[in-house]
Parts: sequence; structure tokens; C-alpha cells
Amino acid sequence: MSRPTADIGVFGGSGFYDFLEDVVELNVHTPYGPPSAPVAVGQVGGRSVAFLPRHGKDHEFPPHRVNYRANVWALREVGVQRVFGPCAAGSLQPEVHPGEFVVLDQLVDRTWGRPDTYSDGGVVGHVSFADPYCPELRSVLRTAASTVDVVAHDRGTVVVVQGPRFSTRAESAWFRAAGWEVVNMTQYPEAYLARELGLCYAGLALITDYDTGLEGVDGIEPVTIDVVFEVLRKSVARTRELLFAAIPAVPERAGCSCAEALSSGPLGA
Ligand SMILES: [Zn+2]
Repeated sequence: MSRPTADIGVFGGSGFYDFLEDVVELNVHTPYGPPSAPVAVGQVGGRSVAFLPRHGKDHEFPPHRVNYRANVWALREVGVQRVFGPCAAGSLQPEVHPGEFVVLDQLVDRTWGRPDTYSDGGVVGHVSFADPYCPELRSVLRTAASTVDVVAHDRGTVVVVQGPRFSTRAESAWFRAAGWEVVNMTQYPEAYLARELGLCYAGLALITDYDTGLEGVDGIEPVTIDVVFEVLRKSVARTRELLFAAIPAVPERAGCSCAEALSSGPLGA
């Protein structure tokens, strides 16, 4: 039997595919070492989808230890061209509430020391990242959100912090004052590496908390990991519902220019 392939990828754990029939797990080798887990391929709405838990099967890789290069490469290796990146995030603004989703449109990188390019000498590529997220997948997500019972904000800027610690109150106040909507630990370099490989990528933030609190609002405790996991656990079904509404609506032929990044990147130059 030939190895199954997929054209859509999701960085989501077993909560997304446990109930699918005929899921095949693939051990994918990459030049960057092993991905966080085997890639699970299954069918969603007539589309072949590859699932990969970015933190590993038992959540063994904290955000700064995830092998992002291997993970994104592994999805591409099984044929994926279009990637959904659901992720947990804290809200920095009062109008973005825990339990809601944000279809991300911009990103600020505050991480450090993470291997974040496939351009490691030899051929040098310079890839535009002005618009980090695929406009077509963003549109698919926004439309899908209107058909299921979730609140999804049309846009939002994510500031990606190194972790594994949460922000100080001063950092959080600074991010809020800049007008950014959400804070997360994994969107960079995941979104950028997808761009280097010419893959479409859409970041979907699930809001779990208010980070260190809100200006002028008393009684909000700074976030803890227990709160994050509790909201994630409660929200897995809604996240799945949203993504499973989006997946069949992804156009078979991409109408965006994400793949063009490949020609200016390290693999195409
Ligand atoms: Zn695209």
C-alpha cells in the first residue's frame, strides 16, 4: 500500500482526530530531526488532512523546545500545501474574551534563539513576511466561523513571546499599549517556516485568559497553566467544529500568492 498523502495540515493534537475512522500514523523523517510526533492522516469532509501535535503526543515539548523546522517540513513531506495553526493565546484587550477565537492577521516576534529558517548557509533567501498569514485561508476561517456556534474576531495581531514563562505585568501593559490583541508562544517561527516553504498558513488563536489582567479592571488573576489547560480542554470540541467546517471549504486550487515565496526562499533561489 502506498503511503497516504494530505493536502491540508493541522497543528492539532489527538483531540482533533481521535474519532475519525481509518487514521494512519506516519513516522516522517526530516533533515532537521524528528517532528514532535508521528503525522496522523485522516479524512475530513472528503479532504485528506494531516494532523501533527506541535507539543508532542504527551505535551512533552514546551514552546521554546518545539522542533518547528521538523514539524513544518514533515507536513510538507506528506504533501501538505495549506496549513491551519490553531493555538492557545492570552487576550490583551478587553473586547477579546476568553473562549473566543481570533483569526490572526499580523505577528510580532519576541522570541529568541529558535532555529527559524531553512536558509542555513549555501543559498541565501530573503522571503517577504509583511503579511504573515494566507488571505485565502483567513477568509475560509472567517466564513466557517459564521456557520458554527463560536465567536471569532476577524483580525488580530499576535505578539509571540519566548516562554515558557508568562509575561510580567509591565510586559503585558506594553503589549496592550501597542494595541496588539493577543499573546502566544508558538506562532513564531511556525508561521514563518511555512512561508519559506511556500505553504499557506492561517493562525487561529483560541483565547484562554487575560494574560496578567486588564487596565482598570480588578479581580482578574494573572494567568496560570492550569487555567490555560482547563479552557483548552473545554474548547477542543468547538475548535474542532470550526476547523472541520473550514477544511472542506478550502479551495482545491489556491487563489493566493503564498506559494510564490518559494522562488525567493532558500529552496527556490
Ligand atoms: Zn495562501
